[in-house]
Amino acid sequence: MALSGIAIYKMLPQTNCKECGHPTCLAFAMKLAARQAELSACPYVSDETKAELDSASAPPVRLVTLGGEERALEVGNETVVYRHDKTFVHQPGLFYRLGDDLSDDEFAAQVDEIAAYEIERVGMQLRPDGIAVEYRSGSPEVFAAKVKKAVDAGLAVILLCSDTAAAEAGLKAAKGSRPLIGATNEGSAEDLVALAKEHGASLIVSGADGDLEKLATLAEAMKEQGVEDLVLDPGTRDWADSLAALVSMRRAAIKKNFRSLGYPVITFPGEGTDSLEEETMLASQFVNRYAGLIVLDHYDPASLYSLLTLRQNIYTDPQKPIQVSPGVYEIADPKPESPLLVTTNFSLTYFSVAGEVEAGGRPAWLLVVDSEGMSVLTAWAAGKFDAERIAKSVNSNGLPDKLGHRRIIIPGFVASISGELEEELPGWEIMVGPREAIGIPSYLSQVASA
Ligand code: SF4
Repeated sequence: MALSGIAIYKMLPQTNCKECGHPTCLAFAMKLAARQAELSACPYVSDETKAELDSASAPPVRLVTLGGEERALEVGNETVVYRHDKTFVHQPGLFYRLGDDLSDDEFAAQVDEIAAYEIERVGMQLRPDGIAVEYRSGSPEVFAAKVKKAVDAGLAVILLCSDTAAAEAGLKAAKGSRPLIGATNEGSAEDLVALAKEHGASLIVSGADGDLEKLATLAEAMKEQGVEDLVLDPGTRDWADSLAALVSMRRAAIKKNFRSLGYPVITFPGEGTDSLEEETMLASQFVNRYAGLIVLDHYDPASLYSLLTLRQNIYTDPQKPIQVSPGVYEIADPKPESPLLVTTNFSLTYFSVAGEVEAGGRPAWLLVVDSEGMSVLTAWAAGKFDAERIAKSVNSNGLPDKLGHRRIIIPGFVASISGELEEELPGWEIMVGPREAIGIPSYLSQVASA
């Protein structure tokens, strides 16, 4: 049962020392009750009350960790239903299901391709998380060898298996990689519970066939048997039922503090669809609403790229725009005569502009002004990208000493500030560049040949 802010306040030291970042203990207590703060922010809570407060302030969706140290994946620990309330915290893990009945060469080739997939987007590295190895071969040894291959590739593993001997062999092969084990919608055998406990694995709770009350009962039973790290499979597979189930589970966990459904959810979009495209769309639904793990059946780089991009967007804190550090960026070893462009420090803007300057193949200086993470037009409208700020940034970054000219190229969208900028930067020529980053290469080649 969740405690009220006042009840939590009575357990706090009540010294109002502010070390938690809140002006008073009461303010901190209110934030804890609203699940908008972590108890660990107060260093003075006694051990005695910690246990009680811990359970009251613990995130309503349990944190479950999979994978080895190198590629650890944390899922769950969510505290809100809507992203705009705060932020979604742990992005869903993207896994690919491979049967252990594939030939060794085919299995290894697919694992290696998935492990090697990595792209950079707005300064972040994006990659899939792991392999769900499904027991189909009938041979525990073969299953264990395939699990080991996936673990050795550095990926997190899910062992889809209800056979006790194969599960034990697979768990031994996955030693040290915090695997998840269970069967898809068949019900989990008691033996698996014992094996999960013995090997420190997380366990899939399945067999509810869309009945969330049954799922909660199954989860309670597993917890009573000593497995804390559970992942729930509601058993729904199609679009509408899955959406309804995942929304109900998230709301029950967060709004009602219903702990029996407060675990990450595993989904299998390939089981509810007939093609790669549909699977990708259903997986997108799960990224948005509220999967912890998504097990895909079709590996395709284009599909993966779209899911990684969506996942990145949804799991970015909406209150904190992704920013790059303000300053001067040197592109392709610029010389004093190279052109100077200016833009804002919103990551997407910076990477678009920098990418197009690079694509143009000409050295340039790129001045990134602190616009508090806003894009060009938004920052201009908010007064965060005006002539005064740009001029200050030019001077504070020592550009007059670095450059052998006095020309600055401003984004086409803020052409209207060129007059003011001339006043702020006497003796400088203000050039109006293209509105869109894509026009930069041709603009720079025109400037170079002028
Ligand atoms: Fe109160 Fe602890 Fe915050 Fe200090 S750190 S104000 S004692 S809640």
